[in-house]
Amino acid sequence: MLYQPRLVPPRLAELWGLSPQWTEAIARRESCNCAWCGAKLRARRIAAVLLATYPVGDPSKLASSVAAWVRRPECQPLRLAEINQIEGLHDVLRALPGLAYSEYQEGVEPGAEVDRVRCENLTRLTYPDESFDLVLTSETLEHVPDLDAALREIHRILVPGGRHIFTVPVLPDVPLTFARAELMPDGTIVPRVPLIHHPGGDHGYPVFTEFGADWPDLLRNAGFETTVTLGSSTEEDLTPVFNCRKAESDSIGSAGPRLPHPREDASRSR
Ligand SMILES: [Zn+2]
Repeated sequence: MLYQPRLVPPRLAELWGLSPQWTEAIARRESCNCAWCGAKLRARRIAAVLLATYPVGDPSKLASSVAAWVRRPECQPLRLAEINQIEGLHDVLRALPGLAYSEYQEGVEPGAEVDRVRCENLTRLTYPDESFDLVLTSETLEHVPDLDAALREIHRILVPGGRHIFTVPVLPDVPLTFARAELMPDGTIVPRVPLIHHPGGDHGYPVFTEFGADWPDLLRNAGFETTVTLGSSTEEDLTPVFNCRKAESDSIGSAGPRLPHPREDASRSR
């Protein structure tokens, strides 16, 4: 595996107030690329959670890789929405006949295709209600301007008992989820605390939400039974995989989760 210890630029570590241990934990999450398929640690964690959550076949000979799993007859009816490509996993998931893959593309109407790739906006998906068994996202929700709308939409397109399996960056010493920036009706982005880019550094999408220790509670309020199946939010291991199940009986509140007021104390971000 390829571990890139200097993946987080020093300037970003400073802006984010990261300790050397956290900086390393983020570098592990965003690298440790598999020498064979290139999947980062977080992609391999999602793969492991898929296999554990949807075991197929005889317990003595369970599929041991997603490449084997997608070819099992039990997986053929699975309706899966991969919203934004998960590097290292996407090429394998393409073997699933029920895969609906989409990317967010600025200025493209949701539901339209560009170069045969469907465009979707998480805050207004064009998929019908209860049309998927599984939604996968990785490092995406933090970039969505309206997190409540995104969670409502994911909940809407899942069948009862369906799952949303995903990763987002969660910092271990942030107790409350807070809004880093707000999208105004006229389209301008107002930073509440200094706007930074994703630690991967390979794209420039603004970060709207920083997730804190209360994040599983917010997911529960949005109608998801939530567990962290693999990984944790500690400085040794910052790669939790959230495994959310839409309740069988629809008990979602009308408003969905409410983000707490933006954190005024931005000392860690200076
Ligand atoms: Zn691999």
